[in-house]
Amino acid sequence: MEAARATVAGAVDRDAVVSRARDLGVLGWVRVDDDGVSRVHAEGGDDAVAALVASLGDAATVERVKVEGHEQFAIRGVPHGTFVLSEHQASTRHFDLRLEVDGVMKSWALPKGPSLDPGVKRLAVEVPDHAVGGDREGPDRIIWDQGVYEQGGRVPWPEAITRGHAVFVLHGEKLRGGFALQRTPRGWLFVKRKDEHARPGSDIVAEQPGSVLSR
Ligand code: MN
Repeated sequence: MEAARATVAGAVDRDAVVSRARDLGVLGWVRVDDDGVSRVHAEGGDDAVAALVASLGDAATVERVKVEGHEQFAIRGVPHGTFVLSEHQASTRHFDLRLEVDGVMKSWALPKGPSLDPGVKRLAVEVPDHAVGGDREGPDRIIWDQGVYEQGGRVPWPEAITRGHAVFVLHGEKLRGGFALQRTPRGWLFVKRKDEHARPGSDIVAEQPGSVLSR
């Protein structure tokens, strides 16, 4: 078992890389970044990893990296669906987090809302699925943030939710970067992952109140 990270100038054909990786039994991901550079993380048998990297051409720069334990070979950087975080003044004020998964909005109620501090774990109570596009602003609800998200973890999506550990990247106005939903015996926890969008010590709910629609 070995892992390699390859970098190639220009956009690779992501679907072709995925199908080659699957043929070879290689796990990991391919991503085309905003700077036009393609990155491939490959892990598996030595020969299979070498074959996948070789298929990227002579111009690829390759380095050995740590095995991350992927269970799939996925395209990264492509939205999986939409997300909505609304502030809801019900009998108790809370935030409703919804992620689009297979045509429905998987939903969690966050009594304290989200945090950008990776040290803060926010309770997220799973609630029934909603319809896509079902959240409207009204007297008791504002759209606090919305956008698209990407799957981000090592486990295929949406199986990651079923298994109780879903990692994803939000592209909202207020919430950006990696987040995790982790199921525990006492409920789900919603946690910011450590990355360039994390802001330790911050309180995003207090700092950026209000709707992203009606500003
Ligand atoms: Mn609600």
